[in-house]
Amino acid sequence: MTHPNPVEIIKKKRDGKRLSKKELQYFISSAAKGEIPDYQVAAFLMATFFKGMSSQETAEFTEAMIDSGKRIQFPKSSQGKYVDKHSTGGIGDKVSLILAPLVASLGIKVPMVAGRGLGHTGGTLDKLESMKSFRVGLTIQEFQHQISNLGVAIMGQTSEFVPADKLLYSLRDVTATVESVPLITASILSKKVAEGISGLVLDLKVGTGAFMQTLAQAQTLAKSLVNTGRSLGIQVKTVITDMNQPLGFAIGNALEVQECIDVLACKPSRYTGKAPEDLIQLTLTLASHMIVLAGHSKSLVVAEKLANEALQSGRAYQYFKNLCSAQGAKSTEVEIAPFQMKVLAPRSGFISKIDGRSLGETIIELGGGRRAASDKIDHAVGLVVPVKLGDKVRKGDVIATIFAQTSNQAENVSLLVSKSFTLTSKKTSHGPLIKKVF
Ligand code: URA
Repeated sequence: MTHPNPVEIIKKKRDGKRLSKKELQYFISSAAKGEIPDYQVAAFLMATFFKGMSSQETAEFTEAMIDSGKRIQFPKSSQGKYVDKHSTGGIGDKVSLILAPLVASLGIKVPMVAGRGLGHTGGTLDKLESMKSFRVGLTIQEFQHQISNLGVAIMGQTSEFVPADKLLYSLRDVTATVESVPLITASILSKKVAEGISGLVLDLKVGTGAFMQTLAQAQTLAKSLVNTGRSLGIQVKTVITDMNQPLGFAIGNALEVQECIDVLACKPSRYTGKAPEDLIQLTLTLASHMIVLAGHSKSLVVAEKLANEALQSGRAYQYFKNLCSAQGAKSTEVEIAPFQMKVLAPRSGFISKIDGRSLGETIIELGGGRRAASDKIDHAVGLVVPVKLGDKVRKGDVIATIFAQTSNQAENVSLLVSKSFTLTSKKTSHGPLIKKVF
């Protein structure tokens, strides 16, 4: 049997033609097995970035990604459907760490396959690995076992589970091909369909810190995710949320874990003395959609009450601790970089813009994110941003604290951090946290 030629496939996509199911299956399965060199896969990604894919083609591409590995199957549960949440990525987006154990503490099964940092955004797996010996590389059997025992597990792609996404994700991260509707759709849904869930809540971020900068772009992506999800047999609820400022106060892996622990322990942030209201509100909203999708409640209002009780009672925190110990973490303590530098407001005014992308770049510059797929990261570095859009600050107030390994390292990024904030003399309005639900 003759195989399609990778060069011809790249050329066809480069010229804006539709790839057949057979071509997509061949290209993706060969790439996942290491039979197509990275430079050809990168060329395919760039061609797809520019020429896009039809909706049918996106569904076939997603299936090809799923077929590069095994599908996980769970026994039917008398406690309702298996559900998960995924975010398209943002700054300080640590929701999964609170949400997954919280929803599981209500008796709902949450098998979560998460990602690493991508572009300027952080990733759940990197955050979890800030806790010493936390294992994200579970086998499928371990994952299934933990879901049946504990109700929640968080792992990454492996060589047996959607290996194609493991490869494509890391190549997109370093070839400027992240912000593409078919590539994001296939990346997210391949993992979600293969993990055996029947309902998915998608947190689709829009704004300066997101891959989608406008509501129109976010809506296009939402449609693609909902339609592709439907054609692959899962129900997708998309919540479009604001990413024009970091979520919560902490940015950077270990600092974000600490912020989640403070929320789970119902304490204010140890760095700002305030509760991260936006993070809590978004977590409860996404939880309520998951609870409804799982069939545990018909009403979003009732579901949000259930979620809030799980948080306030400490049950969610207990599940978080159980999750960490089940996945090998000796403790939930994390190491924080020793040197702190405060960034001060250069004048009085209102915070009218926060450039999330450049704050994300700062984390990469500090070593907390990757420039190359093989980069090792420093989990201990990061930022705490105590201010929010619309806040009034006086000259000399702290607008951010840099956590670095050395004073030089902090000094190197201080201008980038300071330039990420725009101050105006008049208060400007900003949109709501939850923008739209599809
Ligand atoms: N999350 C993913 O898993 N993939 C993307 O492409 C973006 C966010």
